[in-house]
Amino acid sequence: MPAGSALRFEIQAEDTNTQARCGVVHTAHGTFETPAFFPVATQATVKGILPELVRSVGTQGLLVNSYHLALRPGAEVVAAQGGLHRFMSWPHPLITDSGGFQVFSLGSLVRVSDDAVLFRSHLDGTLIEWSPEHAVRTQQQLGADIIMALDECPPANAPRDVIATAVRRTTAWARRSKHAHRRDDQAIFGIVQGGIYPDLRERSAREITELDFPGYAIGGLSVGESHDEMVQMLDVTAPLLPHERLRYLMGVGEPRDVLEAVARGVDLFDCVLPTRNGRNGQAWTWGGVVRIRNSEHRCSELPLDPTCDCTVCRRFSRAYLRHLFMAGEMLGPILLSLHNLRFFAVFMARIREAIRRGTFARFHQSMTASPLLSKA
Ligand SMILES: [Zn+2]
Repeated sequence: MPAGSALRFEIQAEDTNTQARCGVVHTAHGTFETPAFFPVATQATVKGILPELVRSVGTQGLLVNSYHLALRPGAEVVAAQGGLHRFMSWPHPLITDSGGFQVFSLGSLVRVSDDAVLFRSHLDGTLIEWSPEHAVRTQQQLGADIIMALDECPPANAPRDVIATAVRRTTAWARRSKHAHRRDDQAIFGIVQGGIYPDLRERSAREITELDFPGYAIGGLSVGESHDEMVQMLDVTAPLLPHERLRYLMGVGEPRDVLEAVARGVDLFDCVLPTRNGRNGQAWTWGGVVRIRNSEHRCSELPLDPTCDCTVCRRFSRAYLRHLFMAGEMLGPILLSLHNLRFFAVFMARIREAIRRGTFARFHQSMTASPLLSKA
């Protein structure tokens, strides 16, 4: 497959003060505008929310976890049902990850070698061998538009020699992943590792880009390092990725992290934050995070966010939403998740608009002073 044939990325505007850019990505299941944020549908569902509602709030695409679907119901089951888009009734862009992150974080590791990762399923203890070829085969069966090469993702505080080994292995695995990939209606991305070591990041970026993928992910961030360390690694890594290719920062979703990454030329993000926070009773608003269980909302007639146009904010008071959470009603987590999805869609739309209008630097500055950028 010639690089980029399943995916076309058009840069439409670039900010003059930062590296921020906006554009459009064409996939086999439609287009999405960048910078884009993809919420996570871990088990091929955005928990509790019908796909048409997920779409209606402006969600452009979703990320699904191969590891979870490979274990249950099995990638072959999804393939027999016509692939992920049909299985989960989401006819829009989809990404699957390689399973690597979950294999290392959820599975009980038995052995990691240059050949493959051997681990036991967190569900039933089954021994599974996860090789680059297996990760690609699984993702081909699932059928997402963007799939990822298998990488080794150690925690941020891992010793330097562990990170160096991960970089070497990630390059070898990227080469094997690319070689194993057959479907010409999906694009496979390479992943840059290197922890918080600038020289290892540089080495990884050089080796992975030499393999000529249609897009590149910056992996191994948001795994326990500080915000400043993440920003420093973006400063080192992003300029080493080809300008005309899509840049994807995996697992990052804090608005302040997204904003700094966009300023450094990142185009795509995925994160569980809007839905996980929503289920936990935290709503993202332009006035800062609202913790709906707090007693101050007991009698509040206010919506979650007076400036939000979502159905939750137009119809329900904080008092009602708090009541749902206190009573353990399932509608509470659903409504807060839905509002948070709308919030993130609008946040990204404002970023794109600012880049197009040449006002991104001002937007960036005004956001830095905003209560929104305080951590959830
Ligand atoms: Zn809302």
